[in-house]
Order: sequence, then C-alpha cells, then structure tokens
Amino acid sequence: MIEDRFTVVQGDITTLDVDAIVNAANESLMGGGGVDGAIHRAAGPGLLAECRTLGGCPTGQAKITAGYDLPARHVIHTVGPVWRGGGVGEPALLASCYRNSLLLAAEHRCSTVAFPAISTGVYGYPAEAAAKIAVETVARTLGELPKIERVTFCCFSERSVELHRVAIAAL
Ligand code: ADP
Repeated sequence: MIEDRFTVVQGDITTLDVDAIVNAANESLMGGGGVDGAIHRAAGPGLLAECRTLGGCPTGQAKITAGYDLPARHVIHTVGPVWRGGGVGEPALLASCYRNSLLLAAEHRCSTVAFPAISTGVYGYPAEAAAKIAVETVARTLGELPKIERVTFCCFSERSVELHRVAIAAL
C-alpha cells in the first residue's frame, strides 16, 4: 500500500537525515524567509553559492543541489504558487511542485525524501486544501516510482500534522 511509504512528523525539516529535503523556495532561488531561510542557515554558504548558478526556477518546477552542512544529501528547491484565491491555477501548480520534486529525487537515486507544507506559509495557500493536494499527488506519483521508499511530510504545526494524517486516511 502506498500509504505504508508515508511518514508524518512534526519538526524542523533541516534536522532530517534523508536523501533529499524539499525547499519551498521562491523563483530567484536566492534564499528567503520561513523554511527557505532555515534551510540556507543550516546548510551554510555553499548552498547559496550553488543556487546562484541555477538561474532561478519557475513556479511549479524543481531544481536540485547538494545538501552541504545538512544531514540531507540533497536539497530539491521547488517554487510553490502564491495563493490568489484559487482561480489562477494554484492547485495544479502546487501538485506540480510535489510531482516534479519526486521525479527529480528519483532521477538522482534518492530513496527517502521529506517535504515541508509548500506554499502554506507566506504564500498563503489554505492548509487543508494544500495537505490534500500534497498527499494525493505524492500517492499518485509514488505509483510510478518504486525506488522511492519513504516520503516524509515534515509539518511545522500540530494542525498541519493532523491535516496530513486526515488526507492520508482518506486515500
Ligand atoms: P511558502 O512561501 O511556500 O509559503 P514558508 O516557508 O513561508 O513557504 O512556509 C511553508 C511551510 O513551511 C509553512 O507551513 C511553515 O510553517 C513551514 N516551515 C517553516 N519553517 C520550517 C522548518 N524549519 N521545517 C519545516 N517546516 C517549516
């Protein structure tokens, strides 16, 4: 069962010892606040130096770097949509973030991947709708990627943990 490959944890994604953590970045890939700032602080200056060579990243796409001082071997930088009411493609763009991040992880032979709740901070995506898209998209994509053994949803709040658990139970 796909959900046997899911874990939901509450905490700081920068502490996770997985093959790749996903960063909720912005299009510049030059760092920012929230989880992006935490990842850059924990990874050290090598991460920003590599990000500078990437030429940014469009919303819904993903790019990969090394993990530098993080326990994670790689960082997959994806750019979630800014919530503008839901009528300008936000759900499809958010789903693309999860799907493209996993495809990139698989290409780089990552078998364990952790996601934050992309777009649900400063970008304002409603947390319940975002958790459903996250869980459903990861479930669908894992069906194509047998070599990815485990996906962790690393939630910052207790409410976010609950929303992801409910979404997994509803699969
Ligand atoms: P976005 O701009 O995509 O909304 P944010 O970083 O503002 O990105 O928020 C995305 C989610 O990441 C939010 O749910 C926020 O609570 C969470 N978050 C912030 N810091 C961390 C962290 N260190 N580890 C995991 N999640 C985090």
